[in-house]
Amino acid sequence: MAARLAVMLDRGMSAAAFSPDTERLLDQAAAFCERRSLRLTDQRRQVLGLILDNPRPSGAYDLLDRLREVGRPAAPPTVYRALEFLTAQGLVHRIERLSAFVGCSHMLDDAAHDAAGTGTGTGTGTGTGHAHHGLHATQFLICTACRRVVEMADSRIRVAIDAAASAEGFKPMAATVEVEGICADCAADAASAQSLAGVS
Ligand SMILES: [Zn+2]
Ligand SMILES: [Zn+2]
Repeated sequence: MAARLAVMLDRGMSAAAFSPDTERLLDQAAAFCERRSLRLTDQRRQVLGLILDNPRPSGAYDLLDRLREVGRPAAPPTVYRALEFLTAQGLVHRIERLSAFVGCSHMLDDAAHDAAGTGTGTGTGTGTGHAHHGLHATQFLICTACRRVVEMADSRIRVAIDAAASAEGFKPMAATVEVEGICADCAADAASAQSLAGVS
């Protein structure tokens, strides 16, 4: 009885207890910030945790609602500042089409974030293409059915944009491509629903 109460109190205290995977990522993100002489403050940690725990992109208002639900209400400017910090550090990305945020798939990959231009941009396929050197290019696949987002950094796309822009005498710095469509899971669901309909 006492033990159960203690557990409940404990849950109440650390209101926004995240999944073990997310907690592990948050600890690593804190270390990542520390290496850059930055701090993953409690507020930033909460916001990042909520984004990582959500399989779908989180809008600023979803985050404000969630913070209120877990007993950690925050003013909108506070959340916007936290999002700004997380985005600037490459820990989260803003999906413009959805006005929402997702955790970066390579958020803890120092090599991807910090690797200075070492001339790996020749399309060897080894790099994630996510590095902050040369053209910063990321692609997001947005499923219009389930709203999940997959992040890609296909170097072939980066190279193609670079070449096409250069042909116009344009020096590209960043290129975020947002592709809308149907993910493999949703396509499979649709196919099995169709075959079921066909049988009956
Ligand atoms: Zn990323
Ligand atoms: Zn989908």
